[in-house]
Amino acid sequence: MPENIRLLIELQEADSTIIRKKAVIDSLPSKLSSAEKLFKEIRSLYEKEKQKCELLEKKKKDKEKGIEDINEKIKKIKARASDIKTNKEYQAHLKEIETIEKERYAIEDEILSVMEAIEAAAKEVKAEELKMKAEKDKVEAFRKEVDQEIAEAEKEMGELKVRRIAIADKIDPDVYGNYMALLEKCNGLAVVEARDEICQGCNMNIPPQMFVELKKNIEIIQCQQCDRILYWKESGE
Ligand SMILES: [Zn+2]
Repeated sequence: MPENIRLLIELQEADSTIIRKKAVIDSLPSKLSSAEKLFKEIRSLYEKEKQKCELLEKKKKDKEKGIEDINEKIKKIKARASDIKTNKEYQAHLKEIETIEKERYAIEDEILSVMEAIEAAAKEVKAEELKMKAEKDKVEAFRKEVDQEIAEAEKEMGELKVRRIAIADKIDPDVYGNYMALLEKCNGLAVVEARDEICQGCNMNIPPQMFVELKKNIEIIQCQQCDRILYWKESGE
């Protein structure tokens, strides 16, 4: 096989690996951001539950304040007892206390149901918090993994590029220029094998006369269909 063709095959192998590695590196940040998005969704559920719980706590405090106010009122009413002169006044006095106590019982019942709601909401908060923490740990571990993967891939990429330059330096400039133009035109695949008389780049049949020339392995031949540089390799070579 002529040196130029052998070098072009090597160059294509290096470029294919570089392209694959770059795709892996490029895909990692978006994978990480979807993991982060999921975490944020879980965190917002947790915050919603927490807010619900806080609102209930506030409701309970307001009701408790209502009880305090009523107790104060009852105290004041009772303090007026010494001013009572008649039985009628006394009955009215008792009635007043009774009415206000009924009000207090109603609020006490409301407090009990708020407390039940708080208990249920607190359980939800705890559950969401656990879910959120687990997801946070997962995202952090994933981020570390991604950072490491990117660092490794970039290191390999650096080495690959050095190797690629060493190969490219040995190739005839015109041949290299043609290769680079094809690489861009043909989605990163400029050099392909002509296996079983078929171009492995576009899957078209190679005309018999052209295949005969190709098998001689003397000059660079390009596919008539896709323009890629073809090479023929003896099985086992
Ligand atoms: Zn082709």
